[in-house]
Amino acid sequence: MEAKKMIEVAVKILQKNNYKITKQRISMLEYLSHFQEQYVNVAAVDKYMHEIYPGMSHNTIYRNIKEFQEVGIIEQRTRDGIACVKYQCDFVHQHHHHFICKKCGKVQEVQMCPLDFFEKQLPGCEIDDHHFELYGICADCIRLGKN
Ligand SMILES: [Zn+2]
Ligand SMILES: [Zn+2]
Ligand SMILES: [Zn+2]
Repeated sequence: MEAKKMIEVAVKILQKNNYKITKQRISMLEYLSHFQEQYVNVAAVDKYMHEIYPGMSHNTIYRNIKEFQEVGIIEQRTRDGIACVKYQCDFVHQHHHHFICKKCGKVQEVQMCPLDFFEKQLPGCEIDDHHFELYGICADCIRLGKN
């Protein structure tokens, strides 16, 4: 999806959830739209926003990031204690998983969810959260490695 379209979709989602479309939110969306195939450190988003809007507090920036996550505009993950975000890869089938390249960091969407498989092994239990990621080397990196 091209950046312009991605921002349009996000603006619609924000409006639907009664959030004001401020220039700060638009700037954040523009920045985040560069990260649909890759995660970016939340601290980098904060740094970027604080540079353009020095009057914007870190709390506000972090709150905006959290709001974007809650309405499904961005996806978040924490690994080794570092919070990272990326633009939602899939506004249609929202629930999905990722294959992450260990070499270039590229994130690819995987639509199959293994939750049913695990639920069958845990009769009587209620699973209310799960994280599932696949790691390896992406096709592009394998191709480059062979040349
Ligand atoms: Zn995704
Ligand atoms: Zn790769
Ligand atoms: Zn799942």
